[in-house]
Amino acid sequence: MNKRNLAEKDRERLENLKESLGRSRDTFLGYPVSKDFDYSELNPFLQYPINNLGDPFEEGTWKVQTHQMEKEVVAFFARLFRAQPKDYWGYVTNGGSESNLYGLYLAREMYPKAMVYYSESTHYSVRKNIHLLNIPSIVIRSQENGEIDYEDFENTLRMNRHKPAIVLTTFGTTMKEAKDDVSRIKGILRNLAVQDHYIHCDAALSGSYGAFMEPRVPFDFKDGADSISISGHKFVGSPIPCGVIITKRGHRDRIAKGISYIGSLDTTITGSRNGHSPLFLWYALKQLGGEGMKARYLHGLEVAEYCKNQLNEIGVKAWSNPGSLTVVMPRTPEAVKQKWQLATEGEVSHIICMPNVTKSQIDEFIEDLAKTEELEEEEFGFDL
Ligand SMILES: *Cc1c(COP(=O)(O)O)cnc(C)c1O
Repeated sequence: MNKRNLAEKDRERLENLKESLGRSRDTFLGYPVSKDFDYSELNPFLQYPINNLGDPFEEGTWKVQTHQMEKEVVAFFARLFRAQPKDYWGYVTNGGSESNLYGLYLAREMYPKAMVYYSESTHYSVRKNIHLLNIPSIVIRSQENGEIDYEDFENTLRMNRHKPAIVLTTFGTTMKEAKDDVSRIKGILRNLAVQDHYIHCDAALSGSYGAFMEPRVPFDFKDGADSISISGHKFVGSPIPCGVIITKRGHRDRIAKGISYIGSLDTTITGSRNGHSPLFLWYALKQLGGEGMKARYLHGLEVAEYCKNQLNEIGVKAWSNPGSLTVVMPRTPEAVKQKWQLATEGEVSHIICMPNVTKSQIDEFIEDLAKTEELEEEEFGFDL
């Protein structure tokens, strides 16, 4: 093949990019992404054009795939989410957003005349997905802590009880990591006798450790969910963004159509599918197991408590929802926000203590915060 070697200056650009990615990776505290992974043992797999085309649970014609690993990843989460052993299905997606789209798609196929209910703290992907699927929807108020307002939900549902209901609950909201109680939502649906209903739980961040929380917040299949989505690159960690959708097999069977070109069922949103991410997730889950996942969570939780206490100590009113890795605080000064890449919305900023975040990073962040506040005082010449 007629290929040139990379020019010196292009090689230099790659080097610079690598350095800059490393620097940015090492100073973010504001996004829920783990970075403590080492998948180097899987490097040789970059030589294969892996494509997980088709349904992972069906035999297809294309064999350069990792369906077996994908099925094991699905099984791990199905078990974690207390699915019926004989009635679960799922696949590895491109991320939590696609997983949410899938959950809503299944729901709409089941109840084409339904109304979707979701709270104002719901992730932005949901509004777009609802628009793509063209389903009518109503936004429900959130409580101060970010959790759905159950009373507002009940009142709104009552006015529309003649329609099937699709409820999109969030297990770990984007800003405050609040968790909607699926059992309570289910109870309200039952009370109002809305028999045609579907609950999709967006558990992008917290789904991976929800089973280890004490006390636990109801969110899984036993609690009443019909489908659950998570992001693979968040708590578990992956070099490529990815996600998982888990649902009941019966829900998937309604939408399954055979496609002879691939010799499989067209049950996934995209045709060609990334076959490397299932391999990364499988590798991480094999190394960690349930115990390792729990230990990761407890470590993150300890750092989050530490962070909250240290902030309170310097007079910053930081708080967190019970069992959350996210520490919420008033909007931080711009310089601190930029340096630590803190997501900020309205008057609120947050730090997410993913398992790789250390107490010494928290100390450095707090020092920065204390310093900038002093500088601001000097500029105004007033001590507040
Ligand atoms: C991150 C996130 C998503 C979107 O997941 P992606 O993997 O980024 O597509 C959806 N919902 C919540 C609550 C999230 O935190």
